[in-house]
Amino acid sequence: MWLRRDKSISVLISTIFLLLLTHGIVQAATVRFVDKEGNTLAEVEYTLYQQAIYIPVEELNAIFKSDISPLYNRPRKQLTIKLNERELVLLMGRNTVKVPEDNQTLTLSLPPRAIDGKPMLPIIFFTEILPSIDDVEVLYNPNLQRIRFMPKTAWIPDPDDETQEWTIVIDPGHGGQEDIGCKAQSGLLEKDVVLNVAREIQKLSKQYGYKIHLTRESDVEKTRIQRVQSSNRIRGNLFLSLHCNASFSKKQNGMHIFINNPNGMLRFRTLAMPTFGKNKLNLRTQSNFLTQSKEFGTILQKEMNFMTEEPIPISELPLIALDEIYMPAILLELGYLTNNDDASLLADHNHIKELATAIARALHTYTMKSSQSSDMTDAVQEE
Ligand SMILES: [Zn+2]
Repeated sequence: MWLRRDKSISVLISTIFLLLLTHGIVQAATVRFVDKEGNTLAEVEYTLYQQAIYIPVEELNAIFKSDISPLYNRPRKQLTIKLNERELVLLMGRNTVKVPEDNQTLTLSLPPRAIDGKPMLPIIFFTEILPSIDDVEVLYNPNLQRIRFMPKTAWIPDPDDETQEWTIVIDPGHGGQEDIGCKAQSGLLEKDVVLNVAREIQKLSKQYGYKIHLTRESDVEKTRIQRVQSSNRIRGNLFLSLHCNASFSKKQNGMHIFINNPNGMLRFRTLAMPTFGKNKLNLRTQSNFLTQSKEFGTILQKEMNFMTEEPIPISELPLIALDEIYMPAILLELGYLTNNDDASLLADHNHIKELATAIARALHTYTMKSSQSSDMTDAVQEE
């Protein structure tokens, strides 16, 4: 008797679940594929298999917006797909991917699987295989289940390329024993976080071809004037100041981009101070670079947005920290050390690397764009 009732309960439960599912109340887990602008290409439901994320092969057409012609030979467990004019041959349960045209064998760290009889690809297929057969860079954000495709922008040395002359000034805030910046409950210090990120950007800059100048290379104290003077002396093309935030509210979190605008509204207490008297004259010099600062701010925002759930805000303020710098200037707050989630992210080396990668990429985009537009102005002037 109770057995029977048990059965009817389970039927009831599954009916309710089905109702919830069909009404979208229970959300299926999905991966979102986005283009370089962050626009959604496809949102695909995934299957978890041994804690790895798998995507049904049939979704590839939607993701790539073209005919991938997946062919699955069930008895042989062999999958053939056509990507970028080339055929890829995969075997379920095997880590190798054959590209017969190129006589090439690529390796996947997780094999494709037939799950419930359907051929599926591990999510790392996109990051491990795709870049070697197509001119595409693939970024995967596992926290947000988001994958981004971008055209490859590797820098190729070119003697006539003006971007080689680019020098970016990265200013890791604070430093030394006296000026530690803000502090997390865990003991993590702002001066260390910003230096870690700056050093990573410097490492990455080599692949892009611009030079990085750090206003401090170690844990030393530098005055604002010292930072400004050294940056102006080397004729930097862009100044990026790195800081972490602090708030009385532990809930306050996230990144923030500040553009130095002498006429901007003063809305935040962070670092920015209104300027009076004789400082007002100096601020005019920064307003000459406002357009470029805004341009870089927007590029940086686009890159950083990939890492976050909410879009990163941009504010325009008169920033005394960026005063008297004769180049476009931006201040980036990397997160709140007073927020536990932000603080643990900023203590994580992988997160620091991700931040640096996004910033380095933004710098690359900015230098490429600016070189192109200066080429165009030259052309116009010649006529
Ligand atoms: Zn700071």
